[in-house]
Amino acid sequence: MAFTFRFADPFAQVQGSPIRELFRYLSQPGMISFAGGYPAPELFDVTGLQASFNAITAAPGATLSYGATEGWPALRESFARMSTARAIPTQAEQLVVTSGSQQGFDLLLRAFIQPGDTVVVERPTYPAALQGLRLAGARIVTVASDAHGPDLTEMATVLQQHHPKLLYLVPTFANPTGATMDLARRHQLLTLLSDTSCVLIEDDPYGELRFEGEQVPALAALARDTRVADQIVYLSSLSKTVAPGLRMGWMRAHPEILRRCVLAKQVDDLCSAPYLQAVAAHYLDSGRYEAHLPAIAASYGERARLMMATLRQHFGDTLTLLAPEGGMFLWGRLQDDLDATALLPLAIEENVMFVPGSAFYAAQPDPQAFRLSFTMSTTEQIVQGCERLYRAARRLRQT
Ligand code: PMP
Repeated sequence: MAFTFRFADPFAQVQGSPIRELFRYLSQPGMISFAGGYPAPELFDVTGLQASFNAITAAPGATLSYGATEGWPALRESFARMSTARAIPTQAEQLVVTSGSQQGFDLLLRAFIQPGDTVVVERPTYPAALQGLRLAGARIVTVASDAHGPDLTEMATVLQQHHPKLLYLVPTFANPTGATMDLARRHQLLTLLSDTSCVLIEDDPYGELRFEGEQVPALAALARDTRVADQIVYLSSLSKTVAPGLRMGWMRAHPEILRRCVLAKQVDDLCSAPYLQAVAAHYLDSGRYEAHLPAIAASYGERARLMMATLRQHFGDTLTLLAPEGGMFLWGRLQDDLDATALLPLAIEENVMFVPGSAFYAAQPDPQAFRLSFTMSTTEQIVQGCERLYRAARRLRQT
């Protein structure tokens, strides 16, 4: 008889990521993938990173031992400077280094959430956040989002009725929609929060990848010196701007929150790899980060514009697009009731992939929506991939 494992309840409901399920089609010869949300590897500053690796390897000192759970001091200083440059004045002690912003989110769940506690997210939102919330046994309540951020009328009702412990948002160049919350809504949201005991997690891995339009300050920047400042946790990461393989991010939060997250991180991994933290700090201090970033943003801008133009040329008004001002994603919506999940197998037959929108919803999915990532494809692949997508959509229309 098969052995019966007595696993924890939340795992019974959690499925593998639908995006990872698509990976097996990547090996299909000639496949063009707009699915994965990976940064373009050819834009990594390999030379700069090599120089930093070499410098640390030449004199590794304490980097080959365990380090403080809060983070390698030099990297905390670098992240404090980066936060301050984003108009969020920060001292090194006000942040902890995390293994990507993903870990920051998980630590916060452990600090705040017991099964049954309520957390508010946007509809749609980042799927790994949904996974984390489900594993934590959180009760997920959603608020609709559009091209300018979450619907604040719905948000006000939800905050009043559900008393959430946490509100999770990606306000700038969101995953999956690419949308950026406008300034007016940011101010209104902070006003709404001031009447609540809710903590806002501002997840900002994409904010520096702007290729169009005016910069909008982070919520954590707008909240400085106000009553709600303590209620905001700011997460960011080097994954989209330097390299995700470093697994390096940070969390800026109230000391009470940091203290609990540090305890949770001790259990998690004792500390993020000191050797890699020292490399990251060396790299950030070298000045190459600021020098290199504009090239990444510019290249993503070119790819995004080409993808939008090619899609518009083929689809005309049978597809609506949310034009991003930065980040890595383009959000599309098929018209005439065409279903994006039904489009996917036809697209895979045509050798192009994307992620159907349903992957990004905790509730009330929009069946016509889908996410395209423009970062991993060359100019030729973008043009060809969009043509293939249109061919698949035409076939779907005929079924
Ligand atoms: N938040 C969002 C919104 C993301 O899109 C991602 C990466 N896909 C992450 C967090 C995780 O990033 P990291 O590599 O820093 O853990």
